[in-house]
Amino acid sequence: MIECRLLVVGAGAAGIASAVSAWKNGCHSILLVDRSMQPGGILPQCLHEGFGLAKYGKELTGPEYASQLTESLRETGVIFFPGTEVLSISHEKYAVISRRGLLDKISFEKLILAAGCREKTIGSLPVAGTRPAGIFTAGQAQECINLHHQNLGKEILILGSGDLGMIMARRFTLEGKHVIAILEQDLSYGGMARNFHRCIEPYRIPIWYRTTITEIHGTGRITGVTVKNLDTGETKQIPCDTLITAVGLIPERELIRTLDSPDWLYLVGNCRHIHELVDSAVAEAEQIAREAVAL
Ligand SMILES: Cc1cc2nc3c(=O)[nH]c(=O)nc-3n(C[C@H](O)[C@H](O)[C@H](O)COP(=O)(O)OP(=O)(O)OC[C@H]3O[C@@H](n4cnc5c(N)ncnc54)[C@H](O)[C@@H]3O)c2cc1C
Repeated sequence: MIECRLLVVGAGAAGIASAVSAWKNGCHSILLVDRSMQPGGILPQCLHEGFGLAKYGKELTGPEYASQLTESLRETGVIFFPGTEVLSISHEKYAVISRRGLLDKISFEKLILAAGCREKTIGSLPVAGTRPAGIFTAGQAQECINLHHQNLGKEILILGSGDLGMIMARRFTLEGKHVIAILEQDLSYGGMARNFHRCIEPYRIPIWYRTTITEIHGTGRITGVTVKNLDTGETKQIPCDTLITAVGLIPERELIRTLDSPDWLYLVGNCRHIHELVDSAVAEAEQIAREAVAL
């Protein structure tokens, strides 16, 4: 059994910020674990600028922001276990982990859960038809393109005009792909105005408001979708070879589903609530970690 005073699960922006803050506030027995081999969580795959205006006074890319945070982590004695997945958390204050192919346990006094969020998938939507290849969530597509340089398709439809949908519309356009349109059920786009002005307007990417997808076509690979106008009820078939869903994020709290709000447990970052801006996730995590180690 490994022992520590504070266990932080997840080394994204919020996890790193809370570990550093806890260390600076006098807790010197901290273990930070992440299933990935690199710290930073979602940040390394976000190659666009737009991170860090409040914290660093300039706009950084996701990887730049991650390396600033990682640098601050190196200045502490926090122990980081990469490639370590937490499988369960028990009432008796220990976590079961999988590390280097072996199971182990970590006992702790306090635990900060910084496990991020997951994306809603096409399966969660009332869309008829088959589920062929060529359908990705926006985060999956971002990882495939930005980190693994994969070619996902040529004729792209995007469902959802939140920040992720708009950022990926620009990404595909810069990759030389044709973004047919972003479909949005509301009367206006869902993301931040700055992303609309940076990602949509300059590239003249169409947003079809008050529309949604009701059916997917294709067997081996997606060949098109049925698009419905929510005001008139009119439908039409739009051919495409790739569908990107950007329809919402869900805080990742599976690990604590059976725990009944114990007083040693703290939630930070996107697993507490979804943060549009990383600076707000970091500021909140620093504050919560300070309180956690003071008690
Ligand atoms: C596409 C996209 C674009 C964005 N653009 C901007 C922007 O321009 N400007 C801005 O300020 N903000 C932006 N944000 C928001 C910001 O990046 C996030 O709010 C913030 O980085 C979230 O950090 P987090 O630590 O909560 O979660 P994450 O970064 O998701 O980190 C969670 C970590 O927990 C780990 N984990 C989860 N479960 C386990 C487990 N069981 N065991 C071990 N490890 C586990 C994961 O591997 C991951 O590393 C963007 C977000 C996205 C998704």
